[in-house]
Amino acid sequence: MEDKNIKKVLAQAGFSFKKQYGQNFLTDEGLLAEIVGLSGADKDCHVVEIGCGAGTLTRALAQKAAFVHAYEIDKSLQPVLARTLSGLDNVEVTFRDFLKMRLDVIERDLPPYRVVANLPYYITTPLIMMILEHSQKCLSLAVMVQEEVADRLCALPNTPQYGAITANIALYATCQKVLRVGRQMFYPSPNVDSAVVRIDIARGRLGDVDGDMYKKAVQAAFGARRKTLENNLCRAFSLTREQAEGVLNECGIDLKARGETLSPEDFVKLSGEVARYINKA
Ligand code: SAH
Repeated sequence: MEDKNIKKVLAQAGFSFKKQYGQNFLTDEGLLAEIVGLSGADKDCHVVEIGCGAGTLTRALAQKAAFVHAYEIDKSLQPVLARTLSGLDNVEVTFRDFLKMRLDVIERDLPPYRVVANLPYYITTPLIMMILEHSQKCLSLAVMVQEEVADRLCALPNTPQYGAITANIALYATCQKVLRVGRQMFYPSPNVDSAVVRIDIARGRLGDVDGDMYKKAVQAAFGARRKTLENNLCRAFSLTREQAEGVLNECGIDLKARGETLSPEDFVKLSGEVARYINKA
């Protein structure tokens, strides 16, 4: 198969790596197959792949999925992709910055789909939130992230890794670290190890919640780490000290609690209670 030696294809196309785009490509056929399996792509499934690079994962996905809609910011990969994806009639590559596109426009002509992405790390978190907050049709995401970030996304309350991003994802989805990928699996090799995280969207999993209030409560709780939750609540929602105490007592949360001890369920209670106080006032 022509794409077996991706390094040769890249060299022949005169491709030069661009650091700012986080171009670290996967080449190992076994690993690619494993990621496709973990993504949930099957013959009935449409996949949106973000950052398709040299197309190795794209090709593996296309062999299993009904259709792959791939996005790539770097147009200079076009001749490379023309070779790696040759002979496949169920792939379409769009050369655009995915983060600058409108999700409702992308989704207009799509059936329910799964996202697969191996992107630069600084883009992955905004991408995850963009899809969780705005997608109407995405079922799941399989994203490659720096291992530390994977641990943060999937953390449990009361652990050092647990933070605002963990609690915000929990509002929309469940999150699991499904595969560790050593740095040596990428070409060129980055200086950190990675992991694949599988995010399954389950809107409403925490019940009927006002999303904006929930996120504001999360932001408040993690906002000023050195301050008490009570202080942070006062500031974020313009509550008096008595009101903040009332809210926390009503929720059964310790006045001195710190953000990282609160579960997503606590944030649901907290944001609901704050809303009641604000409406009463
Ligand atoms: N999925 C491929 C490539 C990973 S490297 C593989 O696993 O081998 C990440 C790719 O994302 C690069 O090709 C980079 O050019 C692309 N990329 C970076 N930022 C992007 C953005 N905002 N929109 C679309 N593609 C992007």
